[in-house]
Amino acid sequence: MNLILLGAPGAGKGTQAKRIMEKYNIPQISTGDILRNEVQEKSELGLKVKNILDRGELVPDNIILEIIRKRLNQPDCQKGFILDGFPRTIPQAEGLEKILSEKDRKHLRIIEIYVPEETIVRRLSSRRICANCGKDYNLMLNPPPPDGRCPVCGGKIIQREDDQEKTIRKRLKVFREQTEPLIEYYKDKGIFYRVDGQQDVQEVFKEIENIISKVEE
Ligand code: AMP
Repeated sequence: MNLILLGAPGAGKGTQAKRIMEKYNIPQISTGDILRNEVQEKSELGLKVKNILDRGELVPDNIILEIIRKRLNQPDCQKGFILDGFPRTIPQAEGLEKILSEKDRKHLRIIEIYVPEETIVRRLSSRRICANCGKDYNLMLNPPPPDGRCPVCGGKIIQREDDQEKTIRKRLKVFREQTEPLIEYYKDKGIFYRVDGQQDVQEVFKEIENIISKVEE
């Protein structure tokens, strides 16, 4: 099963991808996580993309496609994968098709998690993450402990540089202009589903499970 989770930043793609990964035993591939990791390690790629991430802009398609090509060739992707935060542009979607053209694409399915913009701004500006393991917290729904340390790994809990309101608005604009056209692109191919991302996490997951069970029939 090859799944793409589409949706604005903060729609809940990462949260759902983790659940899908646990239940169906296929890896979550988040280009955002991969890039943040490179930035943290101060690798050549990390130094190149740091400012782009901080500004909430998109990293060039050729860099992203190279990352995806390498990652999809890893043995753990044989059984399938969940793409979270990729593709984000039409050229990325076309590049993905090329990469997959030699593989089994039978079950490539796109699920959009839809959440209105104002809800997203509220969600993202109260999001906090562990700088070490990436676990998500939310000041309103799932507040981090008062000592500011992650209960899972002891890492420091921080606000992502790009979760400041001004950058969130920029990321939403980028989404509208560059990523939203993918919805029509995939609808035309008849492999597109939409779920309401304003429901609670468990309800969203139930809808996704239903879609997956239909796809797998
Ligand atoms: P995310 O965690 O998915 O919100 O991604 C964080 C940031 O990483 C984005 O705002 C972009 O700067 C960059 N990024 C992640 N995935 C992509 C992608 N597929 N194409 C271009 N830039 C990306």
